[in-house]
Amino acid sequence: MPFVETERTTDRFLEKLKKSLKLENVAEVVLETFSDYFGAQGSFLIVLERGEFKLVHSQSVEVGQGQIGDKFWQELLKKDNPLVLEEIEGDKIHLNIGIGQLDPRYIALIPLKYQNQEVGVCGLISRQPFRHDFNSLEARNFILQATPFIYNAIIMKRLEIMAAIDELTGVLNRRFGLRRLNEEFERSKRYRLPISVAMVDVDHFKKINDTYGHQAGDFILRTLANLLTQHVRVYDLVMRYGGEVFLLAFNGASAVDAYQIMEKLRAMSETMRLQYGAFELKITFSCGIASFPSEKVLDVNSLIQQADAAMYEAKESGRNRTVLSA
Ligand code: GH3
Ligand code: MG
Repeated sequence: MPFVETERTTDRFLEKLKKSLKLENVAEVVLETFSDYFGAQGSFLIVLERGEFKLVHSQSVEVGQGQIGDKFWQELLKKDNPLVLEEIEGDKIHLNIGIGQLDPRYIALIPLKYQNQEVGVCGLISRQPFRHDFNSLEARNFILQATPFIYNAIIMKRLEIMAAIDELTGVLNRRFGLRRLNEEFERSKRYRLPISVAMVDVDHFKKINDTYGHQAGDFILRTLANLLTQHVRVYDLVMRYGGEVFLLAFNGASAVDAYQIMEKLRAMSETMRLQYGAFELKITFSCGIASFPSEKVLDVNSLIQQADAAMYEAKESGRNRTVLSA
């Protein structure tokens, strides 16, 4: 490619890369541009996220997560140069990456590194020979330009997850959880669907801390968070609202639906026996439920207030029970 043209392609590439910090968007730009430049009909990007290889994006190829061993990618990432397989006979494809209908004869697997950090692998798949030599200076520069953007997007994603998650329990933290609840509430209003929230407060939690220590208390909180998340649907919300208080939100669930879910969870928690060192601990919680639509509920704040009031009623009337907001 003449120098000026290459420069233009590179500039356009950088402009597109700068537009988004989201990993999925960056991956799309990289795959499209690499496919254009090298002449590929299919492509995929796999990145290393916390020690695991994850497929971020693919175009015209189906790459099943876990279809190819991590070891293969690890070995590839140790290399500096792309692995290019040429004139592959149909029956000689040992790479089990679910190549679909493409019937490729050329595959390039490009290890992506940034400042000695292993970032991931970009795969290009074609029926014809690739347009450029992967080891040419020009091709190498092209690839080198993409890696910092992919790397930044991975870090960004990690930060985003960290910012949304409560460190102790692994559920959504209050700030992010309430933001999501506001979104769900607006959606419920728009589509006239019910939404219910449940305020969960551990009973006599102070006594657990005082008797067995703070670490035992932390263990209880983690166990309860696991119980709550494991038995609700993926699109329900579970957040740590405060110290030993959790808030759950059930989309599309009426007060009665939410009551049944929470009573089931309460019964499960009541019968659990938790081994903590030499001790056997028990958890019970009190729960208050409020729902929208309801005359008293105008917004998320009043929805939470109603659930809180119902929770206090559950405490007042003896704890270890669920109360529906009047
Ligand atoms: P009730 O049945 O009325 O809810 O009584 P309670 O003891 O659960 O309520 P109280 O509000 O008196 O005490 C809550 C305790 O939770 C006090 C606080 O030290 C403890 N706590 C808050 N956050 C954490 C935490 O992250 N870890 C631990 N271990 N304890 C916490
Ligand atoms: Mg409590």
